[in-house]
Amino acid sequence: MTSKHSDLSRLCVHTITTKPWSIEMAAKNYAMAGVRGITVWRDALENRNIKATGNMLRNQGLEIVSLCRGGFFPHRDRSKRLSAIDDNRRAINEAYDLGTKLIVLVCGADPSQSLEDSRSQIRDGIQAVLPDAEAAGIRLAVEPLHPMFADTRSAINTLAQANDLTETLNSIWVGVAVDVYHLWWDPNLEKEIKRCGSNNTLFAFHISDWKSPTIDLLNDRGLMGEGCIPIAKIRSWVEATGFSGFNEVEIFSDTYWKEDQTLFLEKIVDSYLSHS
Ligand code: ZN
Repeated sequence: MTSKHSDLSRLCVHTITTKPWSIEMAAKNYAMAGVRGITVWRDALENRNIKATGNMLRNQGLEIVSLCRGGFFPHRDRSKRLSAIDDNRRAINEAYDLGTKLIVLVCGADPSQSLEDSRSQIRDGIQAVLPDAEAAGIRLAVEPLHPMFADTRSAINTLAQANDLTETLNSIWVGVAVDVYHLWWDPNLEKEIKRCGSNNTLFAFHISDWKSPTIDLLNDRGLMGEGCIPIAKIRSWVEATGFSGFNEVEIFSDTYWKEDQTLFLEKIVDSYLSHS
């Protein structure tokens, strides 16, 4: 059981983790469980006044760590690329209204073109929205995704690629999000974490676990300690850079979404304390 002395001061939960809950339910229950941060997925804001929702979250004592997600820039079709840029501008406005300073980018990929083409469209897309992000005071975090998602979700699949991209863009408004689920397998991970640390571009840290076997590549993530990711070791590399932000629990799970979410949240807190 969680003791009162346990340190939850840097625990953040993504709204998608407790998908069956409305954002109002999530806020109330996270606060009661001692969670201190919340990352808001855009679907959780549908049909709501975003400013009022931001106030509601702060009134619960929660820090709004980031808005998930922008991105999905690449398309073979130019008009689709332009509408993706518009959507990212909307995300920047939403983040501003919500009162968070960070948007996570799932950069996208179009399987009808090469990964190289997708990557240059990602770079151009971020460049196009950078003035908007800067004007709103919103930072953008490029999240590399596991290569199993290189067909449609992201052509940025390693932290090295994300670091290359942020170095090319060379803006204090663009950095990376390190998600252990996507990156744990990479032999260069420690080196690349050091690299973004020394560039001051390590903006966010996401945790969950890789269950073995995994029965669904998207929606079968595990609680911390339930799989094979050396979460504590990766967290130590992240903290060695000076990172002092939140540890964000991001679990997509058809199994856990079917459970009582209050009990699931208790498991999240316990597994956070014992396995991260
Ligand atoms: Zn993530």
